[in-house]
Amino acid sequence: MPSVPKWLGDTLEKLSSKYYHAVTVTDVTYLNESLKKVRFEGDIKSIAFTPGQVVEFRVTDTDYRHYTPSVFDTKQKACEVIFYLHGRGIGSMWAEALEEGQQLKLIGPGGKLAYRSEFPVHLVFGDETSVGLAHCIANECERSGSQFKGLLEFAPENISWEIGTDDRTTVVRASMDSPAKRALEVLESWQDIYGDKVGFYLTGRAKSIQRVRGYLLEKGVPRKHIQTEPYWAEGKRGL
Ligand SMILES: Cc1cc2nc3c(=O)[nH]c(=O)nc-3n(C[C@H](O)[C@H](O)[C@H](O)COP(=O)(O)OP(=O)(O)OC[C@H]3O[C@@H](n4cnc5c(N)ncnc54)[C@H](O)[C@@H]3O)c2cc1C
Repeated sequence: MPSVPKWLGDTLEKLSSKYYHAVTVTDVTYLNESLKKVRFEGDIKSIAFTPGQVVEFRVTDTDYRHYTPSVFDTKQKACEVIFYLHGRGIGSMWAEALEEGQQLKLIGPGGKLAYRSEFPVHLVFGDETSVGLAHCIANECERSGSQFKGLLEFAPENISWEIGTDDRTTVVRASMDSPAKRALEVLESWQDIYGDKVGFYLTGRAKSIQRVRGYLLEKGVPRKHIQTEPYWAEGKRGL
Protein backbone atom coordinates (compact mmCIF):
# COMPACT_ATOMS: atom_id res chain seq x y z
CA MET A 1 0.00 0.00 0.00
CA PRO A 2 2.13 2.91 -1.21
CA SER A 3 -0.39 5.62 -0.17
CA VAL A 4 -3.47 5.89 2.05
CA PRO A 5 -5.32 8.82 3.66
CA LYS A 6 -3.85 9.76 7.06
CA TRP A 7 -6.97 8.70 9.00
CA LEU A 8 -6.81 5.24 7.41
CA GLY A 9 -3.08 4.92 8.11
CA ASP A 10 -3.69 5.83 11.77
CA THR A 11 -6.57 3.35 12.03
CA LEU A 12 -4.56 0.54 10.43
CA GLU A 13 -1.71 1.21 12.82
CA LYS A 14 -4.08 0.79 15.77
CA LEU A 15 -5.94 -2.25 14.41
CA SER A 16 -2.84 -4.09 13.17
CA SER A 17 -0.48 -3.09 15.96
CA LYS A 18 1.05 -6.58 16.15
CA TYR A 19 2.67 -5.95 12.74
CA TYR A 20 4.14 -2.57 13.79
CA HIS A 21 7.42 -2.89 15.70
CA ALA A 22 8.98 0.00 17.59
CA VAL A 23 12.63 0.39 16.59
CA THR A 24 15.42 2.94 17.05
CA VAL A 25 18.10 3.82 14.52
CA THR A 26 21.32 2.77 16.26
CA ASP A 27 23.85 3.11 13.45
CA VAL A 28 24.20 4.81 10.09
CA THR A 29 27.01 3.96 7.65
CA TYR A 30 27.48 5.29 4.14
CA LEU A 31 28.85 2.47 1.93
CA ASN A 32 29.33 5.25 -0.64
CA GLU A 33 27.64 8.59 -1.38
CA SER A 34 24.29 7.00 -2.39
CA LEU A 35 24.13 3.72 -0.45
CA LYS A 36 23.19 4.19 3.18
CA LYS A 37 23.22 1.24 5.59
CA VAL A 38 20.96 1.80 8.59
CA ARG A 39 20.76 -0.42 11.67
CA PHE A 40 17.43 -0.58 13.52
CA GLU A 41 17.17 -2.17 16.97
CA GLY A 42 14.06 -2.86 19.00
CA ASP A 43 10.97 -4.90 19.34
CA ILE A 44 11.67 -7.67 16.76
CA LYS A 45 12.65 -10.56 19.02
CA SER A 46 9.65 -12.80 18.40
CA ILE A 47 9.30 -12.19 14.65
CA ALA A 48 9.77 -15.00 12.11
CA PHE A 49 11.85 -13.87 9.13
CA THR A 50 12.91 -15.71 5.98
CA PRO A 51 15.78 -14.14 3.96
CA GLY A 52 14.36 -12.28 0.98
CA GLN A 53 11.32 -11.00 2.86
CA VAL A 54 10.75 -7.26 3.08
CA VAL A 55 9.69 -4.70 5.66
CA GLU A 56 7.73 -1.51 5.26
CA PHE A 57 8.01 1.97 6.76
CA ARG A 58 5.48 4.77 6.96
CA VAL A 59 7.64 7.44 5.37
CA THR A 60 5.06 10.25 5.68
CA ASP A 61 1.59 10.44 7.29
CA THR A 62 0.15 9.08 4.05
CA ASP A 63 2.94 7.12 2.29
CA TYR A 64 4.56 3.72 2.82
CA ARG A 65 7.67 2.23 1.19
CA HIS A 66 9.12 -1.29 1.14
CA TYR A 67 12.75 -2.19 1.88
CA THR A 68 14.69 -5.47 2.09
CA PRO A 69 16.68 -6.20 5.23
CA SER A 70 20.30 -7.16 4.53
CA VAL A 71 20.38 -8.50 8.10
CA PHE A 72 17.47 -9.53 10.32
CA ASP A 73 18.77 -10.88 13.60
CA THR A 74 16.04 -11.62 16.12
CA LYS A 75 18.57 -12.64 18.82
CA GLN A 76 20.32 -9.26 18.62
CA LYS A 77 16.90 -7.59 18.05
CA ALA A 78 18.51 -5.86 15.09
CA CYS A 79 17.70 -5.33 11.45
CA GLU A 80 19.79 -3.57 8.78
CA VAL A 81 18.60 -2.04 5.53
CA ILE A 82 20.74 -0.74 2.67
CA PHE A 83 18.95 2.26 1.14
CA TYR A 84 19.71 3.51 -2.36
CA LEU A 85 19.41 7.30 -2.21
CA HIS A 86 18.31 8.00 -5.78
CA GLY A 87 16.82 11.37 -4.78
CA ARG A 88 13.73 11.08 -7.00
CA GLY A 89 11.00 10.31 -4.46
CA ILE A 90 9.78 10.73 -0.90
CA GLY A 91 11.08 7.30 0.14
CA SER A 92 14.58 8.24 -0.91
CA MET A 93 14.31 11.65 0.87
CA TRP A 94 13.04 9.92 4.02
CA ALA A 95 15.93 7.44 3.98
CA GLU A 96 18.41 10.25 3.41
CA ALA A 97 17.16 12.02 6.54
CA LEU A 98 17.35 8.96 8.85
CA GLU A 99 19.76 9.54 11.73
CA GLU A 100 20.98 7.80 14.84
CA GLY A 101 18.57 7.95 17.78
CA GLN A 102 15.46 8.32 15.61
CA GLN A 103 12.49 6.20 16.72
CA LEU A 104 10.05 4.71 14.26
CA LYS A 105 7.89 1.70 13.46
CA LEU A 106 8.97 -1.17 11.25
CA ILE A 107 6.05 -2.99 9.60
CA GLY A 108 6.19 -6.66 8.64
CA PRO A 109 8.11 -8.64 7.51
CA GLY A 110 6.26 -9.99 4.47
CA GLY A 111 6.37 -9.95 0.69
CA LYS A 112 6.16 -12.64 -1.93
CA LEU A 113 9.84 -13.48 -2.36
CA ALA A 114 11.74 -15.72 0.08
CA TYR A 115 14.86 -17.90 0.19
CA ARG A 116 14.15 -21.46 -0.97
CA SER A 117 16.44 -23.94 0.70
CA GLU A 118 15.86 -26.74 -1.84
CA PHE A 119 18.24 -25.12 -4.36
CA PRO A 120 22.03 -25.67 -4.12
CA VAL A 121 22.62 -22.43 -6.11
CA HIS A 122 20.88 -19.05 -5.59
CA LEU A 123 21.06 -16.29 -8.19
CA VAL A 124 20.01 -12.75 -7.28
CA PHE A 125 19.38 -10.33 -10.14
CA GLY A 126 18.69 -6.67 -9.40
CA ASP A 127 20.16 -3.19 -9.23
CA GLU A 128 21.19 -0.59 -6.63
CA THR A 129 17.97 -1.25 -4.67
CA SER A 130 18.82 -4.98 -4.45
CA VAL A 131 22.20 -4.68 -2.69
CA GLY A 132 20.54 -5.49 0.67
CA LEU A 133 18.81 -8.55 -0.80
CA ALA A 134 22.11 -9.73 -2.32
CA HIS A 135 23.78 -9.48 1.10
CA CYS A 136 20.92 -11.26 2.81
CA ILE A 137 20.80 -14.19 0.35
CA ALA A 138 24.63 -14.41 0.20
CA ASN A 139 24.78 -14.66 4.02
CA GLU A 140 22.10 -17.33 4.05
CA CYS A 141 23.99 -19.30 1.36
CA GLU A 142 27.15 -19.13 3.47
CA ARG A 143 25.24 -20.27 6.54
CA SER A 144 23.61 -23.19 4.73
CA GLY A 145 26.55 -24.21 2.52
CA SER A 146 24.92 -23.33 -0.80
CA GLN A 147 26.35 -21.30 -3.66
CA PHE A 148 25.53 -17.62 -4.23
CA LYS A 149 25.70 -15.72 -7.51
CA GLY A 150 24.76 -12.06 -7.90
CA LEU A 151 24.12 -10.07 -11.07
CA LEU A 152 23.39 -6.39 -10.53
CA GLU A 153 22.91 -3.60 -13.06
CA PHE A 154 24.02 -0.18 -11.87
CA ALA A 155 23.64 3.25 -13.45
CA PRO A 156 26.90 4.30 -15.22
CA GLU A 157 27.81 6.74 -12.40
CA ASN A 158 27.62 3.89 -9.83
CA ILE A 159 29.46 1.20 -11.76
CA SER A 160 32.66 1.37 -9.66
CA TRP A 161 30.89 0.84 -6.30
CA GLU A 162 32.32 -1.77 -3.95
CA ILE A 163 29.34 -3.55 -2.42
CA GLY A 164 31.01 -6.17 -0.26
CA THR A 165 29.78 -9.44 -1.77
CA ASP A 166 33.25 -10.03 -3.35
CA ASP A 167 33.66 -11.85 -6.68
CA ARG A 168 30.37 -13.71 -6.30
CA THR A 169 28.55 -10.65 -7.66
CA THR A 170 28.96 -9.35 -11.21
CA VAL A 171 28.04 -5.72 -11.79
CA VAL A 172 27.06 -4.51 -15.25
CA ARG A 173 26.07 -1.16 -16.70
CA ALA A 174 22.33 -0.45 -16.77
CA SER A 175 20.75 1.14 -19.81
CA MET A 176 17.49 3.07 -19.52
CA ASP A 177 16.73 2.39 -23.22
CA SER A 178 17.57 -1.33 -23.25
CA PRO A 179 16.60 -2.85 -19.90
CA ALA A 180 18.91 -5.71 -18.79
CA LYS A 181 20.87 -5.63 -22.07
CA ARG A 182 24.30 -6.22 -20.49
CA ALA A 183 22.83 -8.57 -17.86
CA LEU A 184 21.44 -10.84 -20.60
CA GLU A 185 24.90 -10.99 -22.21
CA VAL A 186 26.38 -12.12 -18.89
CA LEU A 187 23.61 -14.69 -18.35
CA GLU A 188 24.26 -16.05 -21.83
CA SER A 189 27.89 -16.68 -20.83
CA TRP A 190 26.93 -18.48 -17.60
CA GLN A 191 26.15 -21.84 -19.14
CA ASP A 192 26.11 -23.63 -15.78
CA ILE A 193 22.93 -21.92 -14.56
CA TYR A 194 20.37 -23.53 -16.85
CA GLY A 195 20.03 -26.89 -15.14
CA ASP A 196 17.71 -27.76 -12.32
CA LYS A 197 19.95 -26.51 -9.53
CA VAL A 198 19.41 -22.77 -9.52
CA GLY A 199 16.78 -20.72 -7.71
CA PHE A 200 16.39 -17.25 -9.27
CA TYR A 201 15.42 -14.08 -7.38
CA LEU A 202 14.66 -11.30 -9.86
CA THR A 203 14.31 -7.84 -8.31
CA GLY A 204 14.94 -4.16 -9.04
CA ARG A 205 13.61 -2.35 -12.10
CA ALA A 206 10.33 -3.85 -13.38
CA LYS A 207 11.30 -3.64 -17.07
CA SER A 208 14.61 -5.42 -16.49
CA ILE A 209 12.94 -8.19 -14.50
CA GLN A 210 10.50 -8.75 -17.34
CA ARG A 211 13.32 -9.18 -19.85
CA VAL A 212 15.41 -11.47 -17.67
CA ARG A 213 12.43 -13.63 -16.77
CA GLY A 214 11.45 -13.95 -20.44
CA TYR A 215 15.02 -14.89 -21.33
CA LEU A 216 15.26 -17.57 -18.60
CA LEU A 217 11.93 -19.10 -19.63
CA GLU A 218 13.12 -19.21 -23.25
CA LYS A 219 16.22 -21.04 -22.03
CA GLY A 220 14.00 -23.68 -20.45
CA VAL A 221 14.34 -22.66 -16.80
CA PRO A 222 11.24 -23.99 -15.02
CA ARG A 223 8.78 -21.22 -14.13
CA LYS A 224 8.64 -22.36 -10.53
CA HIS A 225 12.40 -21.79 -10.12
CA ILE A 226 11.98 -18.06 -10.78
CA GLN A 227 10.72 -15.65 -8.12
CA THR A 228 10.16 -12.03 -9.10
CA GLU A 229 9.52 -8.88 -7.07
CA PRO A 230 9.73 -5.51 -8.84
CA TYR A 231 11.23 -2.85 -6.56
CA TRP A 232 10.54 0.20 -8.74
CA ALA A 233 9.20 1.26 -12.13
CA GLU A 234 9.60 4.47 -14.12
CA GLY A 235 6.75 6.87 -13.54
CA LYS A 236 5.27 4.83 -10.66
CA ARG A 237 5.30 5.91 -7.06
CA GLY A 238 6.18 3.32 -4.42
CA LEU A 239 5.63 -0.30 -5.44
C1 LIG B 1 9.49 -5.28 -2.14
C2 LIG B 1 10.43 -4.10 -2.27
C3 LIG B 1 11.68 -4.13 -1.65
C4 LIG B 1 12.55 -3.05 -1.79
N1 LIG B 1 13.78 -3.06 -1.16
C5 LIG B 1 14.61 -1.98 -1.27
C6 LIG B 1 15.86 -1.91 -0.59
O1 LIG B 1 16.24 -2.81 0.15
N2 LIG B 1 16.62 -0.80 -0.76
C7 LIG B 1 16.23 0.24 -1.55
O2 LIG B 1 16.95 1.22 -1.67
N3 LIG B 1 15.04 0.21 -2.19
C8 LIG B 1 14.23 -0.86 -2.05
N4 LIG B 1 13.03 -0.89 -2.69
C9 LIG B 1 12.69 0.22 -3.56
C10 LIG B 1 12.22 1.36 -2.78
O3 LIG B 1 11.06 1.06 -2.07
C11 LIG B 1 12.02 2.33 -3.90
O4 LIG B 1 13.25 3.01 -4.01
C12 LIG B 1 10.92 3.23 -3.65
O5 LIG B 1 9.85 2.92 -4.52
C13 LIG B 1 11.39 4.57 -3.93
O6 LIG B 1 10.50 5.31 -3.30
P1 LIG B 1 10.54 6.81 -3.56
O7 LIG B 1 9.41 7.42 -2.80
O8 LIG B 1 11.92 7.33 -3.31
O9 LIG B 1 10.28 6.92 -5.10
P2 LIG B 1 8.90 6.60 -5.83
O10 LIG B 1 7.84 7.57 -5.42
O11 LIG B 1 8.59 5.14 -5.67
O12 LIG B 1 9.31 6.84 -7.31
C14 LIG B 1 9.39 8.13 -7.88
C15 LIG B 1 10.13 8.04 -9.20
O13 LIG B 1 11.50 7.86 -8.92
C16 LIG B 1 12.08 7.02 -9.88
N5 LIG B 1 12.76 5.92 -9.19
C17 LIG B 1 12.30 5.16 -8.16
N6 LIG B 1 13.23 4.28 -7.78
C18 LIG B 1 14.29 4.46 -8.59
C19 LIG B 1 15.56 3.86 -8.72
N7 LIG B 1 15.95 2.87 -7.93
N8 LIG B 1 16.40 4.29 -9.67
C20 LIG B 1 16.04 5.29 -10.50
N9 LIG B 1 14.85 5.92 -10.44
C21 LIG B 1 13.99 5.52 -9.50
C22 LIG B 1 10.96 6.51 -10.79
O14 LIG B 1 10.98 7.15 -12.02
C23 LIG B 1 9.72 6.84 -10.03
O15 LIG B 1 8.67 7.14 -10.88
C24 LIG B 1 12.15 -1.95 -2.56
C25 LIG B 1 10.88 -1.93 -3.15
C26 LIG B 1 10.03 -2.99 -3.02
C27 LIG B 1 8.67 -2.94 -3.68
